[in-house]
Amino acid sequence: ASQQLSKADTIKLRNKHIGQACHLFYRSDPLKIVRGQGQYMFDEEGVRYLDCINNVAHVGHCHPEVVRAGALQMATISTNNRFLHDELVQCGRTLTSKMPASLSVCFLVNSGSEANDLALRLARNYTKRQDVITLDHAYHGHLQSVMEISPYKFNQPGGAKKPEYVHVAPCPDTYGGQYTDKLYPNADLGALYAQPIADICERQQAKGQGVAAFIAESLQSCGGQILPPPGYFQAAYKAVRQAGGLCIADEVQVGFGRVGSHYWAFETQGVVPDIVCVAKPMGNGHPVGAVVTTPEIAQAFHDTGIAYFNTYGGNPVSCAIANAVMRIIDEEGLQQNAKQLGEYLLRGCDQLKLDYECVGDVRGMGLFVGIELVSDRETRTPDTQAARWLVNRMKQLHKVLISSDGPNDNVIKLKPPMCFSRENADEFLLAFRECLGTLQQEQLQARAVEAAAAAAAAAAAADAVTTNGVIATAAETLANKTKMFERQDRLIKSV
Ligand code: PMP
Repeated sequence: ASQQLSKADTIKLRNKHIGQACHLFYRSDPLKIVRGQGQYMFDEEGVRYLDCINNVAHVGHCHPEVVRAGALQMATISTNNRFLHDELVQCGRTLTSKMPASLSVCFLVNSGSEANDLALRLARNYTKRQDVITLDHAYHGHLQSVMEISPYKFNQPGGAKKPEYVHVAPCPDTYGGQYTDKLYPNADLGALYAQPIADICERQQAKGQGVAAFIAESLQSCGGQILPPPGYFQAAYKAVRQAGGLCIADEVQVGFGRVGSHYWAFETQGVVPDIVCVAKPMGNGHPVGAVVTTPEIAQAFHDTGIAYFNTYGGNPVSCAIANAVMRIIDEEGLQQNAKQLGEYLLRGCDQLKLDYECVGDVRGMGLFVGIELVSDRETRTPDTQAARWLVNRMKQLHKVLISSDGPNDNVIKLKPPMCFSRENADEFLLAFRECLGTLQQEQLQARAVEAAAAAAAAAAAADAVTTNGVIATAAETLANKTKMFERQDRLIKSV
């Protein structure tokens, strides 16, 4: 499609007609993306950006086979799922064939939020309970029901209040969380992090209420690319099930082979959920999602006598697209690519720790990687400013798109389209090294100036008969320091 508006006009119209609560990436200099192909996006001037963050364009932006499948079905028939259609039943068959045998029934929806909302309904109906356990910093969607279980949103000033039937357990972050490998070097961190869940379950049972569900991303992405410690999910699921609750895996970000070793991220944790929610990558940019569950849970929902109807959920176009995506993942060996390339990328990122002090932790699985930035490795103090500076410089100077997240917004997230290549990984690493090097140099200089100023001030204080010379030197050092900060500030603002 042709782009007829100047970028300035697009911004003007957007400011006027689109709600300002819809934030832009790179707010001070937003990108106008007009085209995508594979792992690249192009702006209105034809500048190419390497996309390291788009886990929606799973098999690559505008994959020709996905486009063809969608266009063909759109030109044939798009109607609702109250008519029989082969694309819908084939979608159900393929999706469930990728799941453990117990998860054999699907409900098709249009988004991750809808999937999680329906999962809560299924769980509450099946258990006849209401209480839900969620993890700190979790995000499960934008609908009222799932905002309630998203501390990522309700913990912010202006966020809604947490209802009393929602219980928040700690995020199992072993680097920056409550129980770290540093504070508890010999402890079973999986057991430590599962204990608060067991405690909630026990309290709920003592009250005679039990729990309806425990919902968690299999690897928490909004929480800052978290890999839970071994045994965590197994212990948590056990406690929840003992309290009569169901276990919901939110695979909206991490499913469909991204983790490389498995098709679903929950499989890396040695658990089988009762309900799995999928979306984003499933449609490669087209809105489609699904809830996959057991026949018993689906039957109990049916037994309510209230039909589930979703106008667009499971329409033939969405299903044709989802079927094309799942076929391409297999045909192009994208899960295998995520495994091999993920290992290469993770190794490259891990080596950054050797050269750059601010890289505190590197973690990941397949093409799901997090780089945590700190101002002090000993104390693991989050460096939010560094993360933002890096995100902007990578885009401005290197045309590489990355993002930052986590409770302190200091974790660089990488979750590129699954067709990401070795050359792409090298391009990212080279650019990122340049940015880290520049940042480190600036930080070292600033620290040296600070130390010199402190030494001069100490010398002046020690010298009872302070001479004009010392004052002059201290003043000069302070002036230098001010200049240095100004320079650093300019550099930060310039990118
Ligand atoms: N769950 C997770 C883990 C997500 O990251 C998101 C979206 N970022 C959602 C659910 C909601 O999905 P959607 O935006 O498609 O409604």
